[in-house]
Amino acid sequence: MTSTMIEGSPVTAAASLEAVDVAAWFGSSLVIDNVNLRMQPATVTALIGPSGCGKSTFLRVLNRMHEAVPGAQMAGEVLLNGEDIYAPGHRVTSVRQRIGIVFQKPNPFPAMSIADNVTAGLVLTGTRISRHDRETLVEESLTRAGLWNEVKDRLETSGSALSGGQQQRLCIARALANKPDVLLMDEPCSALDPMSTRWIEDTIRELGKTMTIVIVTHNLAQAVRVSQWSAFFLAEPGEPGGIVEQGSTDQLFSAPQDPRTADYVSGGFG
Ligand code: ADP
Ligand code: MG
Repeated sequence: MTSTMIEGSPVTAAASLEAVDVAAWFGSSLVIDNVNLRMQPATVTALIGPSGCGKSTFLRVLNRMHEAVPGAQMAGEVLLNGEDIYAPGHRVTSVRQRIGIVFQKPNPFPAMSIADNVTAGLVLTGTRISRHDRETLVEESLTRAGLWNEVKDRLETSGSALSGGQQQRLCIARALANKPDVLLMDEPCSALDPMSTRWIEDTIRELGKTMTIVIVTHNLAQAVRVSQWSAFFLAEPGEPGGIVEQGSTDQLFSAPQDPRTADYVSGGFG
């Protein structure tokens, strides 16, 4: 595992992630510009804002998934513990292992067992692990994702037999099995029922005590429940998206400085 980590960076203490003057394009279309955001260690940062303002694009820039889109480009820096993940010498697979991502629609591998789903990331990166260590990792990851008790007696059954909420927790476990420093989540609850949503929110709050988490959410109450810092993204008509305002979640929701933020957090648009 250690050999695939970026050298010289701590893997135990929570990491900081900082976007500096980030811009991103699809072809010639500039979709976000001038994004500066410091995502503090052991903190949940929420990205809010209407559809189409570039939140998902920004998230994909943060772990170098944006460059997988043909014709996509970015500018600026993304500093993980002060080191630019775009600097030459940083392998993309290693960056994506350290900065994991969970998407809106749970996407476990349907042909794989629950246990194999958890360790799928290790297979992709060619990480070798003993049977005992693998069992420990599966239990630890599923426990952190809040799923262990529900699946411990059927680890070798298919992941696709789980409910939607359980599948999403399985995807969280799969991301955690890579021992990431940062977990990115793109509307992780928007396909789930309220009970599953609350369960995942509990997991996010718990993980956020020790990990750096960035979550995109359309659910403003969710941002208030799970995050300590919030950034409001907006794209004016014909302009690229960017951060209008950021601050502690308490401050952003109770005393927004910009009238556009005030409109949005009071449910005015989007
Ligand atoms: P959000 O997540 O805030 O809804 P996105 O990051 O998905 O916003 O999209 C930002 C802008 O980039 C939108 O105008 C969207 O149409 C455009 N966009 C997103 N993905 C692509 C893509 N693969 N190719 C071209 N344009 C895209
Ligand atoms: Mg999006």
